[in-house]
Amino acid sequence: MLVEEMTAELFKRIKEELPASAKISDIRFEGAEIVLYTKSKEFFTGDSTPIKDLVGKFKKRIMLRPDPGLCNDMEEAKKEIEKMVPKEAGLREILFEPEFGTVTLEAEKPGLVIGKGGETLREIKKATLWAPLVRRAPLTPSDVVKVLREMLYRESAFRKDYLDKVGKRIHGGWKQTDWLTMTALGGFREVGRSCILLRTPESRVMLDCGVKPGTNEYPYITLPEADITKLDAVILSHTHMDHAAMIPYIYEYGCDAPLYCTAPTRDLMVLMCIDFLKIAQREGKNAPYTTKGIKEAVKRCITPNWEEVTDITPDMRLTLLNDGHILGGSLVHIHVGEGFHNILYTGDIKFDRTALFDPASTDFARAETIITESTYGMPNDIQPRRPEAEASLINAVKRTIERRGKVLIPSFAVERSQDVQTILARAGIECPVYLDGMVWDVSAIHTAYPEYLSHELQRDIMQHGWNPFTQPIFKRIGSEEERRQVIESKDPCVIISTSGMLTGGPALWWLRNMAEDKRNTLAFVGYQAENTLGRKILKGWKEIPMEEKGRNVAVPINLEVAQIDGLSGHSDYKQLMNFIGKIKHGPERIIVNHGEPTKCVEFARNAHRIFGCETMAPKLLETVRLR
Ligand SMILES: [Zn+2]
Repeated sequence: MLVEEMTAELFKRIKEELPASAKISDIRFEGAEIVLYTKSKEFFTGDSTPIKDLVGKFKKRIMLRPDPGLCNDMEEAKKEIEKMVPKEAGLREILFEPEFGTVTLEAEKPGLVIGKGGETLREIKKATLWAPLVRRAPLTPSDVVKVLREMLYRESAFRKDYLDKVGKRIHGGWKQTDWLTMTALGGFREVGRSCILLRTPESRVMLDCGVKPGTNEYPYITLPEADITKLDAVILSHTHMDHAAMIPYIYEYGCDAPLYCTAPTRDLMVLMCIDFLKIAQREGKNAPYTTKGIKEAVKRCITPNWEEVTDITPDMRLTLLNDGHILGGSLVHIHVGEGFHNILYTGDIKFDRTALFDPASTDFARAETIITESTYGMPNDIQPRRPEAEASLINAVKRTIERRGKVLIPSFAVERSQDVQTILARAGIECPVYLDGMVWDVSAIHTAYPEYLSHELQRDIMQHGWNPFTQPIFKRIGSEEERRQVIESKDPCVIISTSGMLTGGPALWWLRNMAEDKRNTLAFVGYQAENTLGRKILKGWKEIPMEEKGRNVAVPINLEVAQIDGLSGHSDYKQLMNFIGKIKHGPERIIVNHGEPTKCVEFARNAHRIFGCETMAPKLLETVRLR
């Protein structure tokens, strides 16, 4: 009851600040934001000063939208909009959400829909009496993005009530923040099943929830204190399966907390989790959840942009920042209480420039506690320099083309494939590059979010009109028939295919059909774990066992095997230490996770030697009092 009274009081005070002529018909929360609905045409389309004044006075984000009764008829509004948006903008879709009074315009060139200084949008608002939003359409068609966006529209009514409920929770706390703990639920002294629980007297927040690939080990989310039905927020740093795969599980089994991540992370999560279920089905395993879990998670998604500060509980404020690792991947910064404590969780981090991303951001005010990954946590874990790595990949491709062979690049679908695409496109490789498996869809998602790529790539895409992912050399492989055609052709080509360690996926089919021809090349661009086929070939196996039509055959490895190191999306030892060293007001405590046991412990020891602060490598299930 207390919460209801507090919000009613807040809304009453906001309403009192506005003249009666504003005709406010409804005030609601949308997550941490407040939305006013108006029945006055003049107030909706007029000067925005009164709203700016409210923002200044109440220190909250406040938006103005038309009351559903004020908006023009949808068909008429659609015609108006089509007339007003210039042809060159490539307007693809016009989507109305009457519950919110908004119309979303999806276009290939959003800048042209917005117009100079927002002029076109203002005119659309005046002519239609809808609140226009603009979104970039993926340049290459992607079923996943389309299905997901349509689903969000179907769920508008649910989302309107849900976001109001979330807002009341965020604004309705009263307990004093006098302690803060972190519990290691997964990904400590191991790589895989990353999961952390943060608690204060007021809040319970979960960071990531992944699987340990190749095992049945899940995070310890059945602990009583981790009760998934009592969480206030879930935050997803990025969409690799060791961080994200179990997110739908908690939503299928009763979690009702909002899921915070960037928009590309949400899209990639849907794609990867659907694929995760497909693989489980194909291998005859019981998947831990169904598509229902994915849907329940997406319905509760709140997607802040990088560097946008968002209240997520009464005593926690979230900022996501570039992690340099994969599309939309984020460092998670949480400000607890009013200056009580600050936590920085790195997720996975790359503190160096890559073909796709700028180095991870160090642009946050304080971080008394850092929780850092340590994948390359040993002092001798030093990667070759990036330019050398790129050159050796390009050379491998060029010499294969010269001898009229084909190059197979087994790769993870997210990040490494797009990295390789960008390197090949920039180098001016002219032979066709075929994208097989999930790679095509993931690249399509990259074309929808250029603002999450490096500044250099953004300049190329938006100012020079050069986009690596839409280069004509890239071709989609969608069927067995198309694979056959490529393999039977005598022309040189490159094939990028999943899986990255040759543990499954179409890459195996390609290998089977390319291995015997010594003009071909197998180029590894990522880490090959122990016991994988990739590792065996790297170790020099001259013959590999493969299954064909239900029987085992020995396939001779005659093709060239090239190992390209230095393209990793993880920081090496030096980069990790450099990152920590760059943080203003250096940390008071460093907690190490996401590494093999010895790497976590060694990294903690070395970090203590270098930075002189408290460091630790907690074991699974340990709880640390942060303050
Ligand atoms: Zn990752």
